[in-house]
Amino acid sequence: IIRMKNIHKAFGDTHVLKGISMSVRRGEIVSIIGPSGSGKSTLLRCINQLEEINSGEIYVNDCSMHLKSKSQNEMRKKIGMVFQNFNLFPHYKVIENISKPLNVVKKLNKDEAHEIAVDILKKVKLEDKLDEYPAQLSGGQKQRVGIARTIAMGSEIILFDEPTSALDPEIAAEVLSAIKSLADEGFTMVIVTHQINFASEISDRIIFIDEGKICEQGEPEEIIINPKNERTKRFLNAIK
Ligand code: ATP
Ligand code: MG
Repeated sequence: IIRMKNIHKAFGDTHVLKGISMSVRRGEIVSIIGPSGSGKSTLLRCINQLEEINSGEIYVNDCSMHLKSKSQNEMRKKIGMVFQNFNLFPHYKVIENISKPLNVVKKLNKDEAHEIAVDILKKVKLEDKLDEYPAQLSGGQKQRVGIARTIAMGSEIILFDEPTSALDPEIAAEVLSAIKSLADEGFTMVIVTHQINFASEISDRIIFIDEGKICEQGEPEEIIINPKNERTKRFLNAIK
């Protein structure tokens, strides 16, 4: 569903991505790990063209994302992104954070939008928070609203950039369990995370990135328990 070929990305003189090639199958869950500054967030942002690449090719569902086109725009709508800092609308209630975009962007009528929003908020176990405002929620609850909104908008692919790094470990667990339940529903997910245990539990594949290059990738057991690359070994040892 995602194919990247020899992606290069620089910010001025900073060459961040140095020839990344990777692909993700439909329904696959891939985690990206690696040191701070290695280019993980940049890579994620390139997938849905929040960042323009300097060279290389990116295809999502065979649509070329690196070329501006109508189908590129359509495809971007199928890619949801969940950020570290939630990005909710503070003046809207929880339910409205989901239903308003359905109403305005997806042109559903108010009742339909409301009904779908309630359903999805149940999925992330927030049915008792519908009428609260984001400021009244814990970080984990906010993050689950963000995830719910992404699903509501019909994303097939969900990109997560450290969805739990702003949270206490206990609260992070709620979010991780919400992500896990999505995994069972067949979404394609690419997750940048520092939580190695979570990554190895949930992922079909883990990719280790250092200095803008893929050093090693494989099934969690191979990468986490039996890394072959010296750099991967050092990284895993350092964060243990
Ligand atoms: P972290 O684990 O700390 O989130 P990361 O692997 O996500 O790190 P990136 O955010 O992708 O790293 O950043 C990689 C490099 O690109 C860094 O050196 C950063 O300073 C640089 N960079 C990222 N975004 C920009 C930008 N908009 N303008 C200039 N430089 C940027
Ligand atoms: Mg980052």
